[in-house]
Amino acid sequence: MENSHLHFNTSIGVKKPENIRNKDQACPFCERDQLTDLIAVDGPIILLKNKYPVLENAFQTVLIETDDCHADISTYSNEYLHRLIRFGLKYWLEMEQSGRYRSVIFFKNHGPLSGGTLAHPHMQIIGLHDIDYKEKVSQDMFEGIVIAEEEGVRLTLSTKPRVGFYEFNVEMKDSGYELRFSDYMQIAVHYILNHFPFKTTSYNVFFHHVEDKIYAKIVSRFVTTPLYIGYGIPQVPNNLQWMAGEVRNIYFNRM
Ligand SMILES: [Zn+2]
Repeated sequence: MENSHLHFNTSIGVKKPENIRNKDQACPFCERDQLTDLIAVDGPIILLKNKYPVLENAFQTVLIETDDCHADISTYSNEYLHRLIRFGLKYWLEMEQSGRYRSVIFFKNHGPLSGGTLAHPHMQIIGLHDIDYKEKVSQDMFEGIVIAEEEGVRLTLSTKPRVGFYEFNVEMKDSGYELRFSDYMQIAVHYILNHFPFKTTSYNVFFHHVEDKIYAKIVSRFVTTPLYIGYGIPQVPNNLQWMAGEVRNIYFNRM
């Protein structure tokens, strides 16, 4: 039988620590000598089994990005950014190629409206045994106004956003790592957190591997609109051209 919904185990869910709002909760990812079930380590970057596997029929891992609890994609040095994203892409694609899962998702939550529970910078790689995320992917969710394009890597602002409002997309071929891929991703995150026309503290990054391309969709998060919750209708703002120009001005110094 086809499974369209991912089952969430509520008895594990209630035990999960939360410290984005609850500042008194100690950070479990800072206590590095307490971490167990490590899968791979590259200095401060650690991939390990999720201690709170709330999803059924799934293999959940956590990628701890750094030992700095207050860092973020927007603040990493160039060198560190590439080391981290290379590491993440490698283990994500390895899980995909293992053939053990129907599909493998790789994503990041940041900030109180992102759906995340721990503030320490981390990402998640999750093998899904009976759901193929690619069935819900359409090509047009990655299309948009081109902000920058170099060496086959492209940064766009969605004209057909998946959920609505502002979604940046970065794409590259899956044949090899391109430095620009992570550079553009960092620019999108930095823009959202520092130059957005509305105050925002939250974003997600969702990686997709579709056909021969790798995409990162960087989504600024606000309270989700009722039109999307109730009717699944995404809204497109009328200032996308302006915003694309702003990003070009700030980060690429050209119009
Ligand atoms: Zn921490």
